[in-house]
Amino acid sequence: MRIGIFGGTFNPIHKGHILLTEYCKSSVNLDKIILIPTYTPPHKVSKELADEKHRLNMCCLACKFLDDYAVSDIEIQRKGKSYTCDTLTSLRELYPQDELFLIMGADMFLTLDKWRSPEIIFDKAKIITIPRDKSDYNDLCEFYRKTLKPMKAEAVILKNPVLSVSSTYIRENIDEFEQIESLIDKNVYDYIVKNNLYRK
Ligand code: ATP
Repeated sequence: MRIGIFGGTFNPIHKGHILLTEYCKSSVNLDKIILIPTYTPPHKVSKELADEKHRLNMCCLACKFLDDYAVSDIEIQRKGKSYTCDTLTSLRELYPQDELFLIMGADMFLTLDKWRSPEIIFDKAKIITIPRDKSDYNDLCEFYRKTLKPMKAEAVILKNPVLSVSSTYIRENIDEFEQIESLIDKNVYDYIVKNNLYRK
């Protein structure tokens, strides 16, 4: 199987995240997507950063009706700082025969050389990235050629952005349903309201 691994804070998960994984599934022929929300140390939970159980539940709601998705609590269970090299090492053991693809937006890709143990990451997974706005594509190609390729990374750079949205935008406009209606799954929005998340 070709498995797409997609980690994030998902605070909250929005349609940009899901459109990205769907785009990866179709263009890179992935068989399965695993969403992995990061752990939040209890002292960091705030009106800005929801508890990890809520972020995990919202991920489950966002992909409930989609085929070939799973949500993993591997980073939440591990606690501590969520390092991708540790997550990929565990997933490699769980899926020894499968091909792993690590999915991320342009903002993350452009910092990848600074992550902990990038050589472990590049040994265990290929990277898939995507521009977050139109101007990013050439920067991504250039950065890959100059910085990541010499580090033995293999990357697929998708050309078109999916949807211009961020979790920050959703949180900032949480009281204006019309502003965010098209950017977030309705079940996720209802969950936020029910649990009184992100309200100031
Ligand atoms: P925040 O605004 O809180 O920083 P975010 O919207 O960037 O959140 P994260 O959960 O931090 O979301 O991101 C998880 C991953 O999804 C990252 O790799 C990020 O680059 C990617 N991503 C988020 N939104 C988009 C988008 N609209 N298009 C493409 N990639 C995205």
